[in-house]
Amino acid sequence: MSKVKYHYDPETLSYRKIVRKKGKTIKYGFIFLLASALFGFLFIFIASQFIESPRERALKHELTNLQLQFDLFNKNIDNAFAALESVEERDNSIYRLYFEANPIPEEQRRAGFGGVNRYKKYEGYDNSKLIIESKKRLELLQKAIDVQSRSLDEIAVLAEDKENFLLSIPAIQPVRNKDLKHMASGYGYRTDPFTKVRKFHFGMDFTAPRGTPIYASGDGVIKRADSNSSGYGKHIRIDHGYGYVSLYAHLYKYNVKANQKVKRGDLIGYVGSTGRSEAPHLHYEVFKDGKRINPINFYYGNLSAEEYARLLEKASLENQSLD
Ligand SMILES: [Zn+2]
Repeated sequence: MSKVKYHYDPETLSYRKIVRKKGKTIKYGFIFLLASALFGFLFIFIASQFIESPRERALKHELTNLQLQFDLFNKNIDNAFAALESVEERDNSIYRLYFEANPIPEEQRRAGFGGVNRYKKYEGYDNSKLIIESKKRLELLQKAIDVQSRSLDEIAVLAEDKENFLLSIPAIQPVRNKDLKHMASGYGYRTDPFTKVRKFHFGMDFTAPRGTPIYASGDGVIKRADSNSSGYGKHIRIDHGYGYVSLYAHLYKYNVKANQKVKRGDLIGYVGSTGRSEAPHLHYEVFKDGKRINPINFYYGNLSAEEYARLLEKASLENQSLD
């Protein structure tokens, strides 16, 4: 209810009711409301500078939790780095060494990314440093894993080749020890059984009864199985690849044909005395790149250390070869 205001008129000596125009009343009302609202906003603004709202409290809590999670995340990266380092260490000092590959230098394993600033989009925030540092470390880890993975790919290829190589080279004794009468003669100067003249004996002679099995000393392909080479009689040549050829001479019988593939330990023929031979024995030679080398250097497949020592002793005796 609005108050009724009066005005004293000295001419008529009477009070007259003041009638305010309706428009004016609305105007005053509006100004009052505006002032109240402004004052209200001002109060809330000042108060909000000192008092936290529930929403702010919730956001702060979330931010603290986020920072904690980032710290844990960085600790996880540390652990992953430690695990990777142990793999890298073994890679350089065992695997790569064994397969004769150069170790990967530290600088190459820990190379970062150069050039343009890749982290510009993370800049300009309170926690930019935390985000950029974490991202950098994660990317470094990813790159190091990538380098390690490629190293293992390389080693897998080398290992496969090495395995083939180890299976291929002539590395076992071609006659079983139990079938052997004795190692008659080794590689070196020996007395020729026919001329009695000292000459170089380019192989090893294993005495064994006629018909004793002879085994391929490495994987390969039968290059020859014939008697068209003077002196050797019936003989077999196996091409092992990698520049290696093994030769088995004075055979009684063949168990293989030319161009046949053989594995180490396959039965290829039988001991005899064909060609320039004095008694049944196997004359065995190893060629590397067309040159004859001492076969004894390759026996590590089927001999014990003692057997090898005994063989070495017998092979070095300057006796008469059986040719
Ligand atoms: Zn011989």
